[in-house]
Amino acid sequence: MQSSNTTDEARRLLEICNACRYCEGFCAVFPAIELRRSFTNGDLNYLANLCHNCRGCYYACQYAPPHEFAINLPKTLAELRGETYVEYAWPKPFAVFFKKNGTVVSIATALGIAAVFLLTAGLQSPQILKDVHTGPGAFYKVIPEGAMIGVALGTTGFAILAMVIGAIRFWRDTGGGKATGLHALATAARDVLTLRYLGGAGDGCNNRDEQFSQTRRVYHHALFYGFTLCMGSTTVAAIYDHILGWPAPYAFLSVPVLLGTFGGIGMMIGTAGLYWLKLVGDQTPTARKWMGSDYALLMQLFLAAATGLALLVFRSSSAMGALLALHLGIIFSFFAMMPYSKFVHGVYRSAALLRYAHERRNSGQPEVATHS
Ligand code: SF4
Ligand code: SF4
Repeated sequence: MQSSNTTDEARRLLEICNACRYCEGFCAVFPAIELRRSFTNGDLNYLANLCHNCRGCYYACQYAPPHEFAINLPKTLAELRGETYVEYAWPKPFAVFFKKNGTVVSIATALGIAAVFLLTAGLQSPQILKDVHTGPGAFYKVIPEGAMIGVALGTTGFAILAMVIGAIRFWRDTGGGKATGLHALATAARDVLTLRYLGGAGDGCNNRDEQFSQTRRVYHHALFYGFTLCMGSTTVAAIYDHILGWPAPYAFLSVPVLLGTFGGIGMMIGTAGLYWLKLVGDQTPTARKWMGSDYALLMQLFLAAATGLALLVFRSSSAMGALLALHLGIIFSFFAMMPYSKFVHGVYRSAALLRYAHERRNSGQPEVATHS
């Protein structure tokens, strides 16, 4: 259950903001507030996930500490956002993974790596990890095809199911209703794909201090589109292997390798940049309790990309076996923990943007005009 302290504090702040309305051009949160006279717990969960944590309202607020109103909206909404991940997690007992989430995700990654190494050495042979394997099907000589596909489909399928159920719970709790209308869907898709509200009031967000910058948006784009390219690479490779009968590895200029290379580089730049921004940024408008979760996911994604690129470079050497086991250990643990890591922010934020596009259209409220 959500802590009443956090929901009470969020309600207190949003009621003050709804009277003040100074920040109404900053993001979607403030126009969404204006459509309400009071805030249910579902409304608060929706607004917490609609917030992109740009921090603009914290530095602009005349009621921020040391004022007695002590308004710190980014911090409170980030704390509540973390609690919504627990609230909507499926199956319910697995919500416990959000407790000390940074440590849990790190341990899961280490266990995933250890399991792949131990199973490969135990069920195949330790020498398999040291031998040179080349030519079509080389990767399957280290990790058998059935095991690789079985674990990949099992972890990915479960992650998708858990996140879809979480999204349905979020949608019902935050108002339910049919998400119909191509216009609302197109608006939400645009806002997600362009990270529209990380543009702040036109100059970006307050990443480190009161200065505006587009840096966070750029790094987030690098990570998001890098991840998307890597998913594209895996999909094309699966078609090559299982439909066309062309098992990996593929040539350096082949479609899966090019997608994976650019995607991996994008992910490394994005994760390293976002990690750095978190380290050097002002900690006051942040929810420190959830910082470990942010760092663990960024580290997991960075390692997934780095080991994937290392595997590409050293695939014809004796390091291939160990690198493949390392890479797959990280990938499998990433997918297994996906519904119980910071990754879910993308699911709930997208759903919140869809709800906002939907209710804005139904209410006839004009679009926030100041964003690029
Ligand atoms: S954050 Fe502060 S300035 Fe902005 S709307 Fe709320 S109370 Fe007003
Ligand atoms: S931190 Fe940014 S996105 Fe969140 S409520 Fe404030 S202005 Fe809006």
